Amino acid sequence: MTHFDSESRKYYHAPLMSGPAAVHRLEDPFAFAHAAGVHCGQAALAAMPRLQDRLAGDAVTVAYVVRGKLDQRQRPLLELEITGNPSLRCGRCLAPLDFALQLQSRVLLMHPGTALPEDDADPESPEWLEAGQELDLLELVEDEILLSLPLSVRHDEGNCSDGGGTGRTSGRDNPFSKLATLLGPK
Ligand SMILES: [Zn+2]
Repeated sequence: MTHFDSESRKYYHAPLMSGPAAVHRLEDPFAFAHAAGVHCGQAALAAMPRLQDRLAGDAVTVAYVVRGKLDQRQRPLLELEITGNPSLRCGRCLAPLDFALQLQSRVLLMHPGTALPEDDADPESPEWLEAGQELDLLELVEDEILLSLPLSVRHDEGNCSDGGGTGRTSGRDNPFSKLATLLGPK
């Protein structure tokens, strides 16, 4: 399954921070799905409050592509691709750690207040998303990133400034160790 075709790559590399790429919402997501719409955007991680605990720096944007579709059962769904290189905080030494974010996800659209279909016991089935007349894509992108991040990320043994079996005890020589202290929990 490859969604990273040349068409979407073109958008990832476009320096778009104004215009359509800065509009992080879909008007009528159901119509968007039926019309097989495509929306590309670049979102600043700084605008995602629930991610801040995990980040070691927020001066990063992620690129996303939303594609509207109907699934085999003609249900409206959105396919989401998100790519970026956020700096996460190492779970061991708290120093920044480059993380290659590349996720793909699908959500089925449902109207608010609608009951979930009872036959929806398929574990492969995408999550359902309640969507009104307007869908906040920033929130959706943030949700998907949160769900996709590993619970804990760590430097490789040997690259971690917290020792990690290398014999170093404090990482005193590591330029990141001071930063980790500054950024660490108060
Ligand atoms: Zn580390």
